[in-house]
Formats: sequence, C-alpha cells, structure tokens
Amino acid sequence: MPHSLRSQWVPWTVHLWVICSILGGWQFAEAKPRIALFTTGGTIQSKGDDRLTLFEYRAGRVPPDELLADLPELKDIADIEVHEISNVGSNQMDTQKLLALAKGINGELAREEISGAVVTHGTGTLEETAYFLHLTVKSSKPVVVVGAMRPFTAISRDGPFNLYNAVRTAGTPQANGMGVMVVLNDTIHSARFVTKGHTYHVETFVSRELGPLGYVDSDQVVFYRKPLTRHTSQSEFDISDSDSLPQVDIVYGYQEASAAPIDALVEDGSKGIIYADGSPAYANAFLAAQAKGIVIVQSDRKGAGRVVLSDRSAAKGIVTADNLNAQKARVLLRLALTKTTDPRIIQRIFNEY
Ligand code: ASP
Repeated sequence: MPHSLRSQWVPWTVHLWVICSILGGWQFAEAKPRIALFTTGGTIQSKGDDRLTLFEYRAGRVPPDELLADLPELKDIADIEVHEISNVGSNQMDTQKLLALAKGINGELAREEISGAVVTHGTGTLEETAYFLHLTVKSSKPVVVVGAMRPFTAISRDGPFNLYNAVRTAGTPQANGMGVMVVLNDTIHSARFVTKGHTYHVETFVSRELGPLGYVDSDQVVFYRKPLTRHTSQSEFDISDSDSLPQVDIVYGYQEASAAPIDALVEDGSKGIIYADGSPAYANAFLAAQAKGIVIVQSDRKGAGRVVLSDRSAAKGIVTADNLNAQKARVLLRLALTKTTDPRIIQRIFNEY
C-alpha cells in the first residue's frame, strides 16, 4: 500500500476508541460531585506563631479562600461552593450559628446539582454540632463534619488531608443515607455515636461502643455499617422557622455534689437539665425543678453504656438518655422541647434517636 493511502487508512476500532475516550472524558467531568463547603472555624482554620506551635495558636486566621488555595487537589475530585458561617473556635458556637448552618445546608442540599455538604468545625464541640445536624438536616445526601487537631501552620498538620477525605466522603454515593458523619484521621464516624476522646492526639475521635462506620482509604471510601437510629430525612424535628431553641443545661455528678448549680439553673430560666450521674442532694432540687415544668434527663459520666430506665425513675418523671453522653443528650432535649414537655413523649424520642 502506498504511504499516502496507508496513513488515511485507520482501523474502525481506533475511531471507536477515540470517540469513547472523548465521551468518557466528558462523562468523567460531568460525574465530578458538587459539594457545598460550610466553614465555621476551629483549629483547621487557625495559625500558630511557628511550625512547632501546637497550642496557643489563634483561631479565625485562615479564611475559606486560603483553605482552598492550600489544597489544589480538591479541584480534581469535586466542584466546591463555599459558604462562610463564622471563623471561631468551637466553644463560640451558639444557637444562631447552629440554626444558620442547618438552614444553609438544607437550602443547598435541596438543589439537585449538589451532591453533599462538608462543614469545617473546631473539634472541641464538633460532636454537638454534628449531632444537631444529624437531627435537623432534611436530606439523605451526605453531610460530613471535619476538623483538625493541629493548626494550619504546623509541621505534619492533619487539616488538609482531613478536608480532602471529608470531600471524598461527601462525594461518595455510598455515603447517601448514612446521616451526618465525622471524618478525621481517615476514619468515618456517625454523628450519633462519635465523641472526642483525647485532648490533643490526632486520633482523638472515637465511637466507643459501636465503632466507626468506615474508613477513607487511599484507594476508596469504604463503609462497613449504617446507623439505625432515626436521623436526617426520617427526623421529626424541623428548625426551618426557628430563630431560637429552649435553654437546656448540664450538671455533673460527683461525691457530695451540691444542688446549688441546679437551683441556679432553674433561676436562670433553664427548660431542661441533663445530669451525668447524681448525688443525694439532687433529688429535692429535681422535684422543685419539675414542679416548674423543667424536664430532667439522666445521662452518665462514664462515656459508654445505656442508662436503663428504672420503674422508680419513670414514676418520678425522669427521662433517660439511652447511651447519649450529656452534651449530646442536651442537643436532643433542646429539639424535643420544641415539640413537647411531656416526659413520656420525650422518653420515646430518646429511645428512637
Ligand atoms: N479549640 C479548638 C476548637 O474546638 C480545638 C480544635 O478545633 O481542635 O475550636
């Protein structure tokens, strides 16, 4: 065959390959998930004076632009839309920010083109925000709360990989229906069961009794189980018209604990009190509080195990928190009190969520 003719003769399989590559590339670009990133602050957005500073760093120093510019790899796995809620340490999270966050996430997840949401957050109270969202997000699309234990400026900082893995998880179809998740240290936890378990180690988040949902490995995001308690799209709580939530407080039990904090909280206008273990002095203070319509919920300070409802407690109108720790029981009680003050209905809520 003359050379000029040979160069024009291209087998049909090559044509097919070229067409498939173009279509495949187009499909791949289309398949990239669109993720709504909500930033609230915390160590992941904090800076220290130098690369060795792991404490006494300053919150609020890394705006969302800098967070994203620092992690160009995110562009390869997702299209990100940013919504800044705040840039504060997690001890400054409050009802207004929580409601703005939940409403913002609900608005974004209602858009068909949004696949999931990621929230940056300080780790100190992260589990409270994550559980609040678990109960108030009205979508089965994935929501992932992420933080870091080391500031943005530190050697071996954990924030960028945590954020990258959070976005991967939020963009994974298998994460649909899992409720709100917490991703740090390559591990995926359910907001219902996770707690912060160490003051400064990077492997701080644990799901003590039941273990994590899965892992963010380098090859894929893998899930091994699913939460069975009610959440997100099956939740009965609706904060869409709320601009405040009932005040609920916590008292911690110890030997010879005084009832003074309970009396002070009643005076302060508390609508519900969670106690993590008690003392003999609590009994009368609780009776006085209940006489004013305040709901009392028994949690525990041990960090694992259900609080079983005894006939004696039920007769006294005490609600038990199942295996929720006190800070998460507070989140649930605030939402329950938007519906009812009847301890029997509130016990039903604690049994289901
Ligand atoms: N102090 C920080 C906070 O909770 C701790 C952290 O983010 O790791 O905001």
